[in-house]
Order: sequence, then C-alpha cells, then structure tokens
Amino acid sequence: MSADRLSNMSKEVKPESVSLCPLGTAAAPEQELLCIFGTGDFGRSLGQRLLQTGYKIVYGSRRPHSCAPLPQGAQVTSHAAAAQSATLVFVCIHREHYDFLETLAPQLKGKVLVDVSNNLKKDLYPEANAEYLQRLIPGAHVVKAFNTLSAWGLQNGPSDASRQVYLCGNSAEAKQGVATVATKLGFTVLDRGSLSAARELEDFPLQLFPEWRLPLRLAIGLTAFFFFYVVMRDVVYTYVGQGKDISFRIMVSMANKVFPIVSLIMLSLCYLPGVIAAFLQLYRGTKYKRFPDWLDRWMLCRKQLGLLALGFAFLHVLYTLIIPIRHYVRFKIAASTISKFKANQTMELDNTLAWRTDSYFSVGILGFGLYVLLGITSLPSVSNALSWREFSFIQSKLGYLTLFFCTFHTYLYGWNKFLSPSYYKWYTPPAYMLCLVVPTVVIVLKLLILLPCVDRSLTRIRRGWERTDPEDDSKNLLLT
Ligand code: NAP
Repeated sequence: MSADRLSNMSKEVKPESVSLCPLGTAAAPEQELLCIFGTGDFGRSLGQRLLQTGYKIVYGSRRPHSCAPLPQGAQVTSHAAAAQSATLVFVCIHREHYDFLETLAPQLKGKVLVDVSNNLKKDLYPEANAEYLQRLIPGAHVVKAFNTLSAWGLQNGPSDASRQVYLCGNSAEAKQGVATVATKLGFTVLDRGSLSAARELEDFPLQLFPEWRLPLRLAIGLTAFFFFYVVMRDVVYTYVGQGKDISFRIMVSMANKVFPIVSLIMLSLCYLPGVIAAFLQLYRGTKYKRFPDWLDRWMLCRKQLGLLALGFAFLHVLYTLIIPIRHYVRFKIAASTISKFKANQTMELDNTLAWRTDSYFSVGILGFGLYVLLGITSLPSVSNALSWREFSFIQSKLGYLTLFFCTFHTYLYGWNKFLSPSYYKWYTPPAYMLCLVVPTVVIVLKLLILLPCVDRSLTRIRRGWERTDPEDDSKNLLLT
C-alpha cells in the first residue's frame, strides 16, 4: 500500500470526528471508510460483510505484506496508518494482545474503537475487555459490540438466531455511529447502556443453555428414579417371586411406562408455579411483593419444562405405535387364541372394557393433540404472530385442558387397579399412581382458584387492589 494512497484515504474522512446519521435514514455508505485491526477469522468475516454493504475497508495488521488472503477490495497497512485513515476502528484482536494498542494512543485519540472480544471463561480478568481497552486508550470512545456474533454467522448474514447486536459504551455519539453500521449490515441493535455493562455482554457467548439446566436435570432425575422403580417392581419382583426372567421388557414396556410418567409430571410442573403464585398473592393480599427467587426461577423455565414434557410424550406415542409388531405381544395373542381354540372356548365382548379402552385411547389422543399445539405456539415465530390474549388462551386455558386430558388418560389406565392389593407389589404403588399425585394436586388447586369467591379476590389483586392490614391502619392513625 503506497503512502500516497493512504494520504488520499485520510482526506476522505475527518479523522477527529465520528460520522453519525440517524438509524435507518443513512445515505449510501459507499464512501465511508472503516478500519479493522486484525486479519483473523472475525476481522475477515466482518470486512467481507462491510464491503458487501458498501463500505470501504482498511485493515491494520502486524504483517501487512504477508497476512492471510483478505476480502476482495480491502486494503491493508500498518496499524498506525490504518488508524489514522478512519474514524471507526473495529478491534478484532484477542484481549491478550491489546498491550501494543497503548503505543497507538495518539493516532486513536477521538476515534471510536469497537471492542468485539470475548474470553474463554467468566471472570478471567478483573475488568471487562472493553473497559481495559478504554483504560489503555483514554482518548478514544470505546464501544462494546458484535461480540455475540460468530465469524461464521457474520459471513452468512443475519439469521433469526443471530439477528441482534448488543452494544454498550459511554459516548452516545459513538454508540450511534456503531449502531448505524450494525443496522446497515441488517442487524437489530440493542443498547445495553454504559461501558460498565461490557462484562455482561462478554458473558453472553459463554452461556450454555442456562434456562434448560433445571428442566434437563429434572427430566434426567425423574427418568432415572422411575426407571429404577419400575425395574425393581416388575423385573426384580417377578424374578424373586416367580423365578421368571422378564428383563427383555426393559427395552420397550418399561421405557413406555417411564416416558409418559415423566411427561405428565413435567407438564404439571409447568402449571404448578402459576398456582402457587396465585395462592401467594391471595395470602399476601397484594401483587406488588416479589415472589421468592426459587419461584421466579421456576416460572422462567416453564417453556423448557413444557418442551421436554412434549418430547417425552412423543416418545410414548412412538413406543405405543410399535406395540402390535412386538414379538412378545404377537406371541401372547397367538398363545391365547390357540389355548382358547384348543379348549373350545368362546369369548363375549366386554362392553365395559370396550368403553374403557376406547375412552383411554381417545382421551390420550386428544391430550397429545393439544400438547403438540402448546409446543407449536411456544415457538417464537408462532408466538410472535399471536396477540397476548391468544397466546395466554392457548398456553393457559388449553394448557390446563391438556393436563386434564393427560391425567384422565392415566386414571383410565389405572381403572380398577387402584383398589386391588395385588398391584401393590412389595407394598409399593404402581409408578403411574405415584405420577398422578402432582397433576391431581395442580388440577384441584386450579379448581379452587376458579371458585367465584376466590377468582374475584384474585382478579382484584391482579388489577392492583391491595389488602390493608387493620393493625397498620391503626398505627398510621396514631402517627397522624
Ligand atoms: P484470530 O483468527 O486468532 O485473529 C486474531 C488476529 O489478531 C490475528 O489474525 C492477528 O492479525 C492479530 N494478532 C494476533 N496476535 C497479535 C499480537 N500479538 N499483536 C497484535 N495483533 C495480533 O481470532 P478471531 O477469531 O478473528 O478473533 C478476534 C477477536 O474477535 C477476538 O477478540 C475474539 O474474542 C473476537 N470474536 C471472535 C469470534 C469468532 O467467531 N471468531 C466471535 C466473536 C468475537 P494480524 O496478523 O493481521 O496482525
């Protein structure tokens, strides 16, 4: 890169000012020159996107003559020369190498420095990378931005998963400049405030499914517990009592017992915190007191609980569909038919049994249909298309109906076994009876809330009414 060319470039922009234009109303960015420090993966991807959008790009590199291939149309020079030629500099370098930037303080004075860096771990350094950069070059306006995107994502353009660019910084003008660039690249900008929010932004990419942790742990714990419970009651009990090995049933029969149990418990756990919250508000007589932290956390992961519950319900459906083709089932049917044939026995249709099995299947299918509807409406693309009223009708009213159908389905499965002592092996209830406890409690509590006298009080509280304590009233009177 010749010195003449660089001096021409520096004439195109005013080095001491930030180029600003209101969001979305900017003129064509053809002539605007931006600088990128670092010719690595992120710097190259960002440069390519900026060039496609119409910006001119100059890279600042340690090795301007021997760096990796750069996007077509970009120029490359030393850090000092590149910094002088543009007002906005993207620092696409790892924080460990920031030290050398201190020597560039005179060239970077008054410039907007965009810190895109991330760390490998939380709390690796005492201060956020962007704050450190600001300390190294106090004369620059540091803006933290773009760090939540990946080099790969940048190359592919904004998709639903990475449409947002979070930014923070102490200079409103500098943030506006960066926001303009991000908007032109097709991103939605979310301003998180001053540079003190940088650490929070740097922690974003380090999060690993935070809201899925509790639901996943719960699902694994419930599956393990019920699997062990069912194996003990069915396989071990039969082996000890009758000396028969039915361990082959673990693969399908027992899995198909455990999955619906976990699904039903997790579905009811989606609705339990709402019911607890309602009773808490009734007890406190106000909605303006904060819920305990555990309840808040529980409420925040209801969507994940519901989606996992739906996953287990799907498994139950798939396992049920393969029942007729199982060797064990075909053997049992054939053996029973042959023995009846040999004994010359005839069979009468049991009307009650026919009603029971049909109702059991029908209620299960209806429950599953609504379950799928709940899952679909929890997808952001679908829920965004619904009004709040439509969304809460489906998730709350139809959600409770789903819970009711699935619980009823399980009661029909149990039918008259609840009262028969032979089903209480080793004095333990069958697993499906255990799993009915939580959904039954949720449904009963919900019915209590729906009682007109309770519903009226709750509605008043939720509209802002507060119950005043007579003792507080008398104290206030004494004070006045
Ligand atoms: P990279 O591929 O390793 O590139 C880093 C660049 O920094 C190098 O190409 C080099 O450019 C420059 N550099 C390396 N050592 C240096 C030193 N001692 N002194 C001065 N410059 C040095 O890394 P990257 O993936 O592009 O990441 C760059 C920054 O973007 C990091 O802070 C990272 O946290 C952030 N980021 C990356 C991604 C991603 O998906 N990759 C996503 C979000 C944020 P020259 O040889 O041209 O000097």
